[in-house]
Amino acid sequence: MAEWFDVIVIGAGHAGCEAAHAAARLGASTLLLTQNLDTIGQMSCNPAIGGVGKGHLVREVDALGGLMGRVADAAGIQFRLLNRRKGPAVRGPRAQMDKQLYRRCMRQALEETPNLVLRQAEVRDLLVEGNAVCGVVTDWGESCFCRSVVLTTGTFLRGVAHLGERQFPAGRLGDAPSQLLGEGLARLELTTARMKTGTPPRLDGRSIRWDLLEEQPGDDPPAPFSFLTGRLMLEQVSCYITYTNSRSHELIRANLHRAPLYTGQIQSIGPRYCPSIEDKVVRFADRERHQIFLEPEGRHVREVYPNGISTSLPVDVQRELLHSIRGLESVRILRPGYAIEYDMADPRHLDNGLQSKKWPGVFLAGQINGTTGYEEAAAQGLVAGINGALFAAEKPLFRPGRDQCYIGVMIDDLVTRGVDEPYRMFTSRAEFRLLLRADNADARLTPIGRELGLVSEERWMRFVRKQELLVKGGEVLHSVRLPLREVLLERDESVVGYQTGWELLRRQDVDVERVWQLSGLAGEEEDVLAGLEVDAVYHGYREKQQEEVRRFRETEDWVIPEGFDWDGVGSLSVEIRQKCKRVRPQTLGQAYRIPGVTPAAVMAVWVALKRGL
Ligand code: FAD
Repeated sequence: MAEWFDVIVIGAGHAGCEAAHAAARLGASTLLLTQNLDTIGQMSCNPAIGGVGKGHLVREVDALGGLMGRVADAAGIQFRLLNRRKGPAVRGPRAQMDKQLYRRCMRQALEETPNLVLRQAEVRDLLVEGNAVCGVVTDWGESCFCRSVVLTTGTFLRGVAHLGERQFPAGRLGDAPSQLLGEGLARLELTTARMKTGTPPRLDGRSIRWDLLEEQPGDDPPAPFSFLTGRLMLEQVSCYITYTNSRSHELIRANLHRAPLYTGQIQSIGPRYCPSIEDKVVRFADRERHQIFLEPEGRHVREVYPNGISTSLPVDVQRELLHSIRGLESVRILRPGYAIEYDMADPRHLDNGLQSKKWPGVFLAGQINGTTGYEEAAAQGLVAGINGALFAAEKPLFRPGRDQCYIGVMIDDLVTRGVDEPYRMFTSRAEFRLLLRADNADARLTPIGRELGLVSEERWMRFVRKQELLVKGGEVLHSVRLPLREVLLERDESVVGYQTGWELLRRQDVDVERVWQLSGLAGEEEDVLAGLEVDAVYHGYREKQQEEVRRFRETEDWVIPEGFDWDGVGSLSVEIRQKCKRVRPQTLGQAYRIPGVTPAAVMAVWVALKRGL
């Protein structure tokens, strides 16, 4: 007998796990189909979560009730807050993971989720009735029916791996590609392009000369990702640093005729911000060395990820390259580096709820939309899962805005501008950075998650308590008066006078830690202190940015109805009209952000909207 679900999620990578969890949490009966249950939440590339921009996404996923932050806290083996000395807007949490533990914890979290069925099966095709997708066909030879489908197939669609002169079908090394579904999605015009990404070889830690290398320990105390995690109690594992050198670069140059990137074997575009080592050596020819972080892949395995030397050169060249590097002179390769090409969708064919404009009820998330990275995938998966459930329940979709969160920035960038290279999150992509900080992701999103039904009672109580602490802390800082001579960085007994804690935080010559100690706030959570600091230091800027958000909303609130007659706006150039027809912007603000659309064109559309065209 055929089975029925509200939502079917295809793929249990970082997007699929969040999507399935979110849909089920919203009460939708959800089926998660994946090729292999043992690779749920598999980290295909580096063993780390977070970073600047990416860490913001993890905090936002967590604030909305998603899984990634909690699982990362449970599986982390080294935690660092990047940019700690820079402004709070660009501080980003990052942690090394025990990859096996991450998979286990993610699977456990899914298995504990009510309304969610997990199944190991490969989806061969989508079932279509009229202009709607109504289910999937699996390699079990069965059909499963649903109201909405979430596609999160990552690098698997018609995937081809490249290793030197060799190329072979793969979703990633050791996993089969998704061939038939790839063909089916191409037929439905859901996928239209190909992209490429690559990964470095994995090393046997027992053959590394650690004593020759620079150690990079974690933070003490470690700061967690999740707003639900209290203090993290763990023994942290160190990373180590080494560098390529002129010998390594010579070797790469001498073997470019064997590099798939340069022989024409790989046709598609790879991530600019995460280039292969052969790419770096060619593009930055004057650089004498490139940094490599040696990152442990787990607490109980001796496998090491050399971050910074992704490559698809032949294995013999990879080995020689590694042996040219300090500390790696005798290193053994456990798994070779390789590149992979796969099918992707043009995200401009999606609306800002990640729903296909052509196929209502079909949602796409993760690498399939042209992004790269676990965090980008998880954040999209969360939105797609929420919307899969809302669609099934015939409720309005969740469409996060650029002024609310990095998730909104990313989705707007994707659906408005599309991608011509794998998209990765950076803080510089957000125009309201001071408001969209990692420490206040909960203030921005937990009430929304609560309203959607994703946020647990425990999370809500913690959130309310933190907001109370922020208010109380603010009151303390405004009332307490501290002696200047006790808090200045350059202690000077002859200095006289007092200032409030709030005034002191605004000064550059003050020891901030002393201010916390003397005002009795030193024991508070890092997030609470960051919030108080931002409140004091950036008070004026924050007000200014809030005013900018108000102006931003003026165009964002002008909704362009589906079926808007672009030909009826006489003064638009042919080029702008074509661009708008292709992207089909949903608001005036989104139209404005389409590359090449001028302020005059936006004004013309605004006039047409006012006239009720
Ligand atoms: P994935 O994690 O790929 O998960 C896809 C899931 O879909 C898998 O569970 C798969 O089994 C399942 N699936 C596929 N087809 C079917 C089907 N027909 N039926 C059922 N299940 C199916 N990221 C970076 O940030 N930087 C990098 O440098 C980088 N390099 C990478 C190099 C390589 C070689 C690879 C493979 C990945 C790399 N990544 C990198 C990308 C990173 O792995 C992805 O961004 C991230 O995993 C995407 O998550 P996802 O959920 O979209 O897809």
